[in-house]
Amino acid sequence: MVNGIAAELSSIVGDAARVLTAPAVLDRLSHDFYWYSPVLRPQLEDKVGEVAVQPVNREEMLAILRFAYGADIPVTVRGAGTGNYGQCVPLQGGIVLDLSLMDKLEEITPDGIAVCEPGLRLGALEMEARKQGWELRMYPSTLVKASVGGFLAGGSGGIGSVRHGGLRDFDTVRAFEVVTMEAEPRVVLHEGAAVHEILHAWGTNGILARVWFALTPAVDWTQVTIAFDTYEHAFDFGELIAAGDAWIKRLVTVFEWPIPSFFVPVKPLMREGKAIVLAMIATAQVAGLRRAVESAQGEITFAGPFDGPRTQPLLSDYTWNHTTLWAIKANPAYTYLQCGFSSTECREQFRLLRDRFGDEILFHIEFMKIGDGAVVPGAIPVVRFISEERLNEMIAYCRSIGVSVANPHVNYLEDAGRFRADHIQLLAKQKYDPAGLLNPGKMISFQRKAVTR
Ligand SMILES: Cc1cc2nc3c(=O)[nH]c(=O)nc-3n(C[C@H](O)[C@H](O)[C@H](O)COP(=O)(O)OP(=O)(O)OC[C@H]3O[C@@H](n4cnc5c(N)ncnc54)[C@H](O)[C@@H]3O)c2cc1C
Repeated sequence: MVNGIAAELSSIVGDAARVLTAPAVLDRLSHDFYWYSPVLRPQLEDKVGEVAVQPVNREEMLAILRFAYGADIPVTVRGAGTGNYGQCVPLQGGIVLDLSLMDKLEEITPDGIAVCEPGLRLGALEMEARKQGWELRMYPSTLVKASVGGFLAGGSGGIGSVRHGGLRDFDTVRAFEVVTMEAEPRVVLHEGAAVHEILHAWGTNGILARVWFALTPAVDWTQVTIAFDTYEHAFDFGELIAAGDAWIKRLVTVFEWPIPSFFVPVKPLMREGKAIVLAMIATAQVAGLRRAVESAQGEITFAGPFDGPRTQPLLSDYTWNHTTLWAIKANPAYTYLQCGFSSTECREQFRLLRDRFGDEILFHIEFMKIGDGAVVPGAIPVVRFISEERLNEMIAYCRSIGVSVANPHVNYLEDAGRFRADHIQLLAKQKYDPAGLLNPGKMISFQRKAVTR
């Protein structure tokens, strides 16, 4: 059976080297960073595709989908496999559609829209954009590896979100072409508000084949780390910079101690026992920042240029969900949550959580702009894992005190956050994947209909 599928795929792409069946390769291409979650780890570690294929253009993609639909074979898309919840792990075997070779940047238009294929790495796009006077509005801390398609289908925001919001906001994703999973796959253009039918749907309701992604004029950035005696001081300072309209920033992150102790490669920039604010600030404002730090009684422990993804040290490597990675490296008992604190009640929410859970929860804040333009404290707290029950207790308690949680310990869209309450992603799946063959099992509200072939 597998040999038959592989042979068919080889004849479709005309190159057997782009059809992969070696068990170790399939295992790698079938997994992402799901193992961050001790709950997902045992559920997903043995899930694997039967064959992987690497199209180089949209025509090959269409032909692969036509064949898979006709043969009733599930298809799970993979960008770079840096997702966190087993988003690209095939639950029902089938074909892994690896888009890493569809990575062309067609153009950056004079008004700053990148037109590209989905497999383009965000880091490559940032480098080329900067050469032309533009930069990404936002990117995940996996900048170097992650693909544009994987970010749109699986990510939410990141470095830049403090200024430009999340992927859902402010018209950043202008348009894309979506390929459907039907007897005769179609290419459908989604523009403007229609992008929300497919954004962050984990490749369950269509495959992004071409993307129009808005950039912003490039800024000369300086990366800084600032130490404060207490988390409270660090948080106050972070909020001042993040929410202050006058500050031009790309990143404002706050870590309470001992999180900075996990960052082994940049240990000299940390201070024993102290909280850290890590920021990217317009170089033109660094002198003003130094004055602000001095009056807040902080200590700048590092200030250096950002020259794109190859900068060393690249301080964003310690932010967003990289923080969790360093925590797990330091102690495999750590895992994480994804939370949204209230901008007005957050200090009380921190206190309540500390009182109830002590050092089982460590605060890691990422400030971000939301749809109405307000800047709020998002958070990816580091959590010491005791049991699934205890984790669920923490999630329930967070929600009871007004802290929102996108649960990273489930493998389906509906509870992992950003599932649209108006069900437009589900409606798109019913239209574009009626047989339920795209990344099956990840959108649990979808019911497969009897399909006539
Ligand atoms: C260390 C670390 C740090 C991270 N930091 C961040 C962060 O700052 N912000 C953030 O938002 N996320 C973050 N993530 C999660 C992840 O890196 C991002 O979501 C990233 O953008 C995923 O890109 P990818 O190419 O690896 O996608 P993949 O993991 O390959 O895919 C993600 C999902 O999208 C689907 N998909 C991929 N390509 C397509 C396509 N062309 N069409 C339709 N569906 C597709 C896949 O099936 C899968 O469901 C982090 C993860 C790690 C491990």
